[in-house]
This record gives sequence, C-alpha cells and structure tokens, in this order.
Amino acid sequence: MIDLSGLYIHIPFCKSKCFYCDFFSIPQLERKNELVQALMLEIKTERSFLGSERPALYTIYFGGGTPSLLNQEDLGNIFQTIRENYDVSHCEEVTLEANPDDLKPDYIRMLRNFPFNRISIGVQSFQEDELKLINRRHSAFQAAEAIENCHKLGFDNISLDLMYGLPGQTIERFAKSIEMAVKLPVKHISSYALSWEEGSVLYQKREQGLLVQTEDEILEACYFKLIEKLRSRHFMQYELSNFSISGFESKHNSSYWNGKSYLGVGPAAHSYNGEVRRMNVSSIEKYIQGIEDLNSCRETERLDAGTKYNDFIITRLRTVKGLDLTELFKLFGRKMQEYCLENADKSLKNGFLAICDNHLTLQKKGYFIADNILSDLLWVED
Ligand code: SF4
Repeated sequence: MIDLSGLYIHIPFCKSKCFYCDFFSIPQLERKNELVQALMLEIKTERSFLGSERPALYTIYFGGGTPSLLNQEDLGNIFQTIRENYDVSHCEEVTLEANPDDLKPDYIRMLRNFPFNRISIGVQSFQEDELKLINRRHSAFQAAEAIENCHKLGFDNISLDLMYGLPGQTIERFAKSIEMAVKLPVKHISSYALSWEEGSVLYQKREQGLLVQTEDEILEACYFKLIEKLRSRHFMQYELSNFSISGFESKHNSSYWNGKSYLGVGPAAHSYNGEVRRMNVSSIEKYIQGIEDLNSCRETERLDAGTKYNDFIITRLRTVKGLDLTELFKLFGRKMQEYCLENADKSLKNGFLAICDNHLTLQKKGYFIADNILSDLLWVED
C-alpha cells in the first residue's frame, strides 16, 4: 500500500491583524514574490522528508495567514512545482483557506483553474459588532455573499470557522451566528473558543481592564449549544471542534489526528514524519535567507517513545472515534497500554471516558474538559 502524506503551505501575510490572533502573519506583502520562490524551493528540496524521492500526496492545504492573497501566477508556479516533485495521482483534497473579502467572483473563477476542491472560510461571527470588536476585515453580509458565490461558481465543499467566547457575546448571540451558518451552503464547520494569546490586542485590552474574559460556564454552554444546533442540522461531530455533513470531514486535518506524515513549508510551518517533528523559523527574512542559502531555517526534534505515545493519546482522543486499543498495543507494547488504562481508570469510572468496540473514547460530558482528562493519560519521565 502506498504511504500517502499531506503537504501544508503557509502563506504568512495578512492585510491587517485580527485582534485575537497570534499566528505568524505580517502585513509586508512586498516580499510575497520572494516568499513564493522560497516556498517552491522548499517544496522541491524537502520532499525526501516524506520518505521517498517522489512522495505521494493525499492532501494539500494552503493555510495562513491569508492564502487568498496569492494570485494566479503564484498559484500556477506553486502547483507546477508540486506536480514536478510529487505524485498527485492519489490526492483527494486540496484546500485553500480564504478571507471573505478576497473571495470576489473573479477570484473564485480563477481558483477553479487549479485543483482546489475545498474552500475554508474564516468567518468567526455573523454579528457585525463582534466582527468589529475582533478587527475582522469583512462584514457578516460579505461573508455570506462569499460563501454563496463560492457555491454558485462550483465549490461544493465549503467550510467555515466560528468563534465563541468573544467578549460580551451571549449564548443567544452565538446561537444566532450558528443559525446563519447552517442556512448557507456549507458542508463543514469548525468552531473554537477564543484563546487569549499573550501579545494579541485583545489580551492587552483585557490587561488594561477594557475587556472582560468570558466565564467558563458561558463557554461551556456555547459549546454544547453548538453541538446541539449542528446535530439538528445533520452536521456530525467527528472531532472536538469539527463538524461536517457525512462524507465532508476534513481529510487533511483528519490525517494530523491519525498520525500521518506531513511536510509543512513556509515560515513557522511544522512538519512530522513519525520519527521527527520540525518547525520552520517564524521570520520571513530568516526563512527566505535560510532557504536560498540552503542553511537550516528550522528546529528539529527527534521523537522518543514517550513523546510518540503522548502524541498518539492527544491526537486520537480528540476524535469522536477515539483511540484504538489494539493499535496502541501494536505501536507501544503492553506496558504503555496498561499505563494508559490505569491512568484512564478514574475518568472511566466517572463517565468522562468509555471503552466501546475496543476504542477508548471521550464521552460528551468530558468534551469540554478534554485537556484535563487527556493530561492524566500522558507519559511523564521520572
Ligand atoms: S486573517 Fe487569520 S492569520 Fe490573519 S490576522 Fe486574522 S486570524 Fe490571524
């Protein structure tokens, strides 16, 4: 059987910064051409990280930042480099993350000339005041229009992101955003709680006493409202924060949770091949220089048995399918399997975890406190 991998391409530019964001992205678009050249070189020179001279790709994902700032020439050059260096005959999913304000009809038509078959749109909210509060560049109307246009112009597999826990957001207002989302022609919804990242504008405003962080009880109520409302519209939860109409689960992200290899190219991109995890430098200058000079522009971590086990626990248990105990045994042996089950005992007894069909799975009452439950199962060196 051919080993299929993922390719992630990080486009680190944004026209402006959202107030919650701490992803690596900057507004310096004048370096875009150099960056695209460096990306093409990295796509070519690092392919052996995936274990062969011509790796077979299962998914390609353009993330950011704002990949919808790439134009026809940029995309043409990148796809040509991919075709020249990888086997794409098994590639099933090619995603572009996009900002609603970039998705004008002409741009969407241009995208149809490329292998994209999935568009992931950062919406976050359908409430105008909430969008302003977090400094999104689009209105709720623009977001809805962009989604409708993508659908009309031939994209069937559309995903959108929604955020909860925004300052001042009530459960009812979040519910309205969900209702707006499911009226649109989308097949997939990801929804995460606002994370107060140090360095973000929202974090600073909270420190200055200008904003108040949402209480956990409200976050939890929003989360369960999300599950309930999406289920009633046939969006099945397949991961803690991800929901889809059957058959439209994200193949790329599912590969991360199933431990498949992927190569990440671009500043701050991560890569993983089962033995090694790497992270590219979070600087456009150092990245471009490092790639051009064939110098290292990344940190590499060789994974020991304990780290591999911990990755396995964290990724598999986030999925609704859960962790296959036979796979755990095959990969890590009896000692680790017993360690996992002994440490799961308390959560099994109080109903946060269960074993069904030989899979250890999080139960609904454990979803919101998943991080605590998972941390009990992790391997800690003496
Ligand atoms: S568009 Fe995305 S990456 Fe860019 S600033 Fe906003 S959240 Fe961050």
